Amino acid sequence: MAVTERATTDVIDELTAWLEENWDPDLTCAEWWERLGLSGWAAPTLPENAYGKGLSRNDGVRVQGEIARFGALGAPAGLGLLLAAPTIATHGSQEQIDKYVKDIVTGQQAWCQLFSEPGAGSDLAGLTTKAVRDGDEFIVNGQKVWTSGGQIADLGMLLARTNFDVPKHQGITWFAFEMHQPGVEVRPLRELTGRAMFNEVFMSDARVPADAIIGDLNNGWAAANTTLAHERAGLGSGGGDGGYGAAMPGTVAGFLGRRAGEFAPKSEAGQAAAKSGRGGRGNGAKLFIDLAKGNGTIADPSLRQGLMKLYTLNEIGRINGLRVKAEKEAGREIPGMGNISKLSMSEIMRLTRDLGLRIVGPAGMLHAYTGEDRKVLDEATGNPFLGMVTEMALFAQAPPIYGGTDQVQRNIIGERVLGLPKEPNDDKVRPFSELPKNA
Ligand SMILES: Cc1cc2nc3c(=O)[nH]c(=O)nc-3n(C[C@H](O)[C@H](O)[C@H](O)COP(=O)(O)OP(=O)(O)OC[C@H]3O[C@@H](n4cnc5c(N)ncnc54)[C@H](O)[C@@H]3O)c2cc1C
Repeated sequence: MAVTERATTDVIDELTAWLEENWDPDLTCAEWWERLGLSGWAAPTLPENAYGKGLSRNDGVRVQGEIARFGALGAPAGLGLLLAAPTIATHGSQEQIDKYVKDIVTGQQAWCQLFSEPGAGSDLAGLTTKAVRDGDEFIVNGQKVWTSGGQIADLGMLLARTNFDVPKHQGITWFAFEMHQPGVEVRPLRELTGRAMFNEVFMSDARVPADAIIGDLNNGWAAANTTLAHERAGLGSGGGDGGYGAAMPGTVAGFLGRRAGEFAPKSEAGQAAAKSGRGGRGNGAKLFIDLAKGNGTIADPSLRQGLMKLYTLNEIGRINGLRVKAEKEAGREIPGMGNISKLSMSEIMRLTRDLGLRIVGPAGMLHAYTGEDRKVLDEATGNPFLGMVTEMALFAQAPPIYGGTDQVQRNIIGERVLGLPKEPNDDKVRPFSELPKNA
């Protein structure tokens, strides 16, 4: 993917001029996202032939922040923009880019990631969902799990085994898979927070056309690695948030026909969030510092030390982002930086959980599972931020798992960056069908 490094002020001036001319809160989300997506500002880090502007990741984060600061609705956030679009831009044909990426950047279609299975998570290449050729189509049977946003997805990034008789990494294919079809059943999983954002997906004789293969047949591992690299980078510290705004893309979520201005960060709270980090410039410790000042716990020196550590970790994430940019400008890369920033985000989440619960004290044992409950809790405790603190604390278990667990990130750094020996294993040469289960 060609990346253009341009002076940030140039980019922001160009964006501001474009927003002044084009932002209209009375457009529907669909109309606004069409303008934003086709202009290249929804996904500016994609190359120009894929509805982007070929900008660096750092400039992309800055663009998101500036759209929020301007007060306009951000890009149609989600796994389509974060993962599917860059994968298809890298491995797909121009026809596929025009078919799929266009609908992602304009918010028309929402995507989910159909990678993990009950027996294949860290060992993703051990997946057993199979796709068998039937004329111009493939018939898909299998089960996926932990599918974020599966309940509102129009399409899925499906990894399926298309050849069992070759080593496991060589028999996998990456498909753009239609979710709305007979043979696809999405079952929600209720999580600790009380929400159900993740799902099990069952595919029974579902169908996918051969021209929906991204990359080549049986070469899906290469495309999957592109998806995973973008996942790590997007989830790591110092990254963006995939676009500001509570409106979700796609035909199921129900936002396309609603007024864009309804979701723009024009409220005081939205502007504050944009300034305090969601735009990529602030530091996540700020909210906790304010909370601790508000209830007097800031007087505790060990809590202050913890807050300083949180502030520092966020700053390191931001500065590492700048280092990556500087190295890229010089034509170099920092090996393992995606893995390191994902590990750092896990650390930030754990610390956020622990500090948040210390600041709110025993009230941290109360959690509201519904909007109605939250109102009652707010009134009873007089603390409108309590729900956010407990939600973050309960959710903190997830980031060290999704996108590759902490242990897997360390393995990658050890083996691919430090050159340490791999676990002895013959799965690179033995056909998948001959491997013991879960090997
Ligand atoms: C909130 C959430 C959202 C998710 N969203 C999605 C999604 O949208 N799409 C999707 O496809 N998947 C998704 N996942 C799945 C996620 O990618 C997997 O959970 C993750 O890869 C771990 O796989 P597993 O759960 O099967 O655990 P396992 O692989 O069974 O791991 C269990 C434990 O063993 C450790 N372990 C495993 N192998 C090794 C090794 N070689 N060396 C050292 N330690 C090891 C792991 O670190 C972990 O602690 C999501 C998961 C969560 C929790």
